[in-house]
Amino acid sequence: MISYQNTAKEIREKKPTIAILPIGSTEQHGAHLPTSTDTVISSKIAEEVAKRMDAYLLPTLPYSTCREHDGKMGSFSLKSQTLYCVIEDIFEAAKRQGIKTLVIMLGHGGIFISNPVVRELNANNPDMQVIKVDLVQFFTSNELNDILECKNNLHACEYETSLMYQFDEEHVHPEEIVDCVPDVPRDYLNYAPIFRYSPAGVWGMPSLASKEKGAKIFEVMVQKSIDYINDVLKINRERDFYHE
Ligand SMILES: [Zn+2]
Repeated sequence: MISYQNTAKEIREKKPTIAILPIGSTEQHGAHLPTSTDTVISSKIAEEVAKRMDAYLLPTLPYSTCREHDGKMGSFSLKSQTLYCVIEDIFEAAKRQGIKTLVIMLGHGGIFISNPVVRELNANNPDMQVIKVDLVQFFTSNELNDILECKNNLHACEYETSLMYQFDEEHVHPEEIVDCVPDVPRDYLNYAPIFRYSPAGVWGMPSLASKEKGAKIFEVMVQKSIDYINDVLKINRERDFYHE
């Protein structure tokens, strides 16, 4: 594995072809988790994925889109169009350096601009592959279902709190935990901040979280991410109609 902590000479000698860009968020996570939660989670999972895939780890982007958390201190959202341009710019720089595959790993579930930017970059660059790994996509997997007792995890929940016990326990405040499973579906976050549906700014049951669950969730998320990346690469290589 090579990363942004290496020198330019070391990176050049390694000739990386696959780069991983973790994207987090800086936003409120209830009273018990730090605003760095999504950035910490995406960084830790991306680092382990990069190690196991011998990939090039880029620094984590600590800002993304989180308008659903407006109204509490500590939340900083980019505009969707700003984030689109940031991802596009990083892709173009990676392309100039010979990267063939750029994986964007999303540690925050509300990055909806990721779909159009990934589609556009792939359509315009058939010799490259941009892969989006949205950690939320694994929430309904059997492996995660076996670990999590609450089946409605979205924000500062059993899933995120367990991972933060595992990664950064000194910044978790269990005495401040409030459970709240809103009585509306997730898409209501398109209409108003989370506080309208959950005054605590929590979506799930963090009281069920534990460090032991965090270790198991970490392993599942790392393996699911690697399997997903390898599947996308394998299937697109086998069905390469651009070069027929
Ligand atoms: Zn989060």
